[in-house]
Amino acid sequence: MEVNTTERQVEKVIEAVDAQNKWRKLECINLIASENVMSPLATKLYASDFMHRYAEGDIAHRHYQGGKYVDEVEGLAVELVKRLFNTTFTDLRPLSGSMANLACFKALTEIGGVLFTLSVPCGAHISHQNFGSVGIVGGKVKPYPFDIERMNIDVDATIRQVKKEKPDLLVFGGSVFLFPNPLKELREVADELGIRIMYDAAHVLGLIAGKIFQDPLREGADVVSSSTHKTLPGPQGGLIFTNDEELFERLKTAVFPGIVSNHHCHRIPALCITLLEMQKYGEEYANNIVRNAQKLAGALVERGFKVLAESYGFTQSHQVLLDVSSLGGGRKVAKDLEKANIIVNKNLLPWDPLTSKENPSGIRIGVQEMTRFGMAYNEMDQIAEFMEKILIKGKNPHHKKEEVISFRKDFITPKFCFQNVEI
Ligand SMILES: *Cc1c(COP(=O)(O)O)cnc(C)c1O
Repeated sequence: MEVNTTERQVEKVIEAVDAQNKWRKLECINLIASENVMSPLATKLYASDFMHRYAEGDIAHRHYQGGKYVDEVEGLAVELVKRLFNTTFTDLRPLSGSMANLACFKALTEIGGVLFTLSVPCGAHISHQNFGSVGIVGGKVKPYPFDIERMNIDVDATIRQVKKEKPDLLVFGGSVFLFPNPLKELREVADELGIRIMYDAAHVLGLIAGKIFQDPLREGADVVSSSTHKTLPGPQGGLIFTNDEELFERLKTAVFPGIVSNHHCHRIPALCITLLEMQKYGEEYANNIVRNAQKLAGALVERGFKVLAESYGFTQSHQVLLDVSSLGGGRKVAKDLEKANIIVNKNLLPWDPLTSKENPSGIRIGVQEMTRFGMAYNEMDQIAEFMEKILIKGKNPHHKKEEVISFRKDFITPKFCFQNVEI
C-alpha cells in the first residue's frame, strides 16, 4: 500500500506538469502582462548541470572552485547586456526583479529616507511600497501626483511636491506601465536637489531592448533594475545596470553578500541566448508587440469595452488596461475568461481604494506572449471578439473554450528566436 501511495504521488506530480505544459503553453490565450516564454533553445539550455552548482562572488573571483564555465557564460551575458542597453556596469545575480529593487533601495536610500513612487492603484509594484522591499530597508514612500487621463505621472504637480518634500530617490516604472515616464522632465529638479533616479524596467525591458520605448539611462536614470522574463522573454530572474561606477560598487555589495549567496547559475545560459535573440530579432518583436497592443485596445473599444487612456492612444507598451466595473468587476471577468482558456489578471484602477484589491474595477492585459507566438492584427480582432461574446453578449465561456483551443493551434511555436538549432 505504502509503495502504491508513493507511486501515485509521483504520478500525480508528473501528471500536473504534463497538464500544465499542455494547458498553459498550447491551449490558452495567455494575456498575463508579466509573463512570457523562452525560446526552444533557451529552454533546452535551462535544464543543465549549472542548476546544481555554486558560484558565489564575482566572475573570475569566485569563492568556490569548479566555476570556469559559469564564468564564461556569465561574462558573455554581461557583455550582451552592456551592448544591448548601452551601459557600463551590470549585475545579473539578483534572482528576481524584486530582489534587484531591494538591492537598489539598499544602495540608494537610508533609514527614514523618502522615495517617490506610484501608488499601487496607479501601477506601482508591491516592492515599491512600505509593505514591500522599501519597508525592508526602512524607506518611506510618497505617491506621485498622477494624471488619470494620461495614465502617467503629473509633471507639474510632482515638481512642486518634490521641491517641498526633498526626497532621496525618484522611482520610475511600475506594473501598470502604458506610457514612457517623464524622466527627462523631472531630471532637472532632481539634479537641482541632488536626488537620485531609479528606473524599474521589469515590464518594459524587452521594449527598451527593441528601441521602441524610452531609453532610461539616456533620459536621466542613475540606475535601471529589472526582471528578465516579461517583455524580455528570458528565464525568470533579475538584473541591474548603471553607468555610475561608484554607485555600482554599492549595488554589487547589496546584491552579494547582501541578498544572494549563490545566484542560480542555470538561468545564465538561457539569459545569454535570450539576449542574443533580442539583439537579432528584438526590434521587430517589440514593434509587433506595441502595434498589437494598440490594435487590441481599438478592437475592444469598437466592441463596447471601456479601455483606459483612450484619448492618448490607449498604450505605447505591451499593456492594455480595461475598466470592467460595469461587467461585474475584475474578479468575475478574470474568472469567466479563464473558463474559456483566456488568462488575464484583475487589477486595481487609479480610482480604486486598496481595500478593493480582491474585486477591483479593472483587468490588465499584455500581448507580448501571444505576439511571440506570431499573432498579429487579425488575431487581436479575434481575441476582442472572444471577449465580447463572453463578457458583453453573455455567451457561456465553457462553450467558447473549444474555439479558443482550436484558435491557438496555429500559434504554438515561438517566433523572434533561433530556429532549428541542434544541440
Ligand atoms: C514584476 C515586477 C517586478 C519584479 O518581479 P519579480 O517577480 O520579483 O521578478 C518589479 N517591478 C515591477 C514594476 C514589476 O512589475
